Amino acid sequence: MPAPDLPTQVRPADDAGIAEAARLIRAGQPVAVPTETVYGLAADATSGEAVARIYEAKGRPSFNPLIVHVTGIDQAERIARFDPAARALAQRYWPGPLTLVLPLREEAGIASIVTAGLTTVALRASAHPAMQALIAAAGRPLAAPSANASGRISPTRAAHVLDSLKGRVPLILDGGQTAHGLESTIVAVADGEVRLLRPGPISAEELGAVAAPTPERIVAPGQLASHYAPAKPLRLNVTEAAPDEWLIGFGDIAGDVSLSRSADLVEAAAALFDLLHDADRQPAARIAVAPIPEDGLGAAINDRLRRAAAPRPEKS
Ligand code: AMP
Ligand code: MG
Repeated sequence: MPAPDLPTQVRPADDAGIAEAARLIRAGQPVAVPTETVYGLAADATSGEAVARIYEAKGRPSFNPLIVHVTGIDQAERIARFDPAARALAQRYWPGPLTLVLPLREEAGIASIVTAGLTTVALRASAHPAMQALIAAAGRPLAAPSANASGRISPTRAAHVLDSLKGRVPLILDGGQTAHGLESTIVAVADGEVRLLRPGPISAEELGAVAAPTPERIVAPGQLASHYAPAKPLRLNVTEAAPDEWLIGFGDIAGDVSLSRSADLVEAAAALFDLLHDADRQPAARIAVAPIPEDGLGAAINDRLRRAAAPRPEKS
């Protein structure tokens, strides 16, 4: 975790505050912003390094697929494939506290760290005017988990964000107290099947009136594969690869490819899922990864690699 030494501004979410937040987002920085559920820590969803800085600021020791915030269905349809059930849900509940997990359009340019390498993406159009204005001003979709340090409760006021992220983020937009204080309802929709992944402000009954959840497919949160895991065996802390291994390097260990030649953990986190996919596509039978230091983002990178190296089947 970096030393908490950034000056953290708290500003009203007015036009000047939004303009400054959009400038920071375009410069690759995370910014805290209110939604109608809890405060989010938002970064450019098309930049892996910007999203890695969310994890750095939160001090989160593991990666998780993040929700991508959009202004509405038009922007969302450029990122994911909507079937009629998904479109009906978005038309009824957006903007609002509903997140839809949908098949990702690969050409959408969403950074792979956002989806943790999955082929689906979680999308939400918040009704909060600050989040709406920030997405529009930044001119790009924003990835945003809750704006709290790892292990702390989700923030419903700017002061909660300041308590836990002071010195770790450049700007907190203050939009007062959030309306729900409860995280968004999450629904996965694919091939006409609707599955409730997380209960939230919009109930299962309300969803059912628009697109009924497939009863046998209602799964508890955490039951879905939550990250991409390579299909090939993976060996960790490797300084010299065996002949049948594709070596993913770091720092001084050059490898066949490198997470970061300059040993920059932000760059490495941003590249991780792309390089795992890429390794799976190589002719080599196995994957090896150079040692990654355990500090800062290294903890989350190593967590992911250890799970990928563990004997299958994996449930993480
Ligand atoms: P939070 O940002 O804290 O509201 O949490 C985001 C939630 O969305 C987590 O429970 C994730 O596991 C879930 N999520 C995000 N993207 C996906 C996805 N592609 N597939 C399944 N669940 C997802
Ligand atoms: Mg959270």
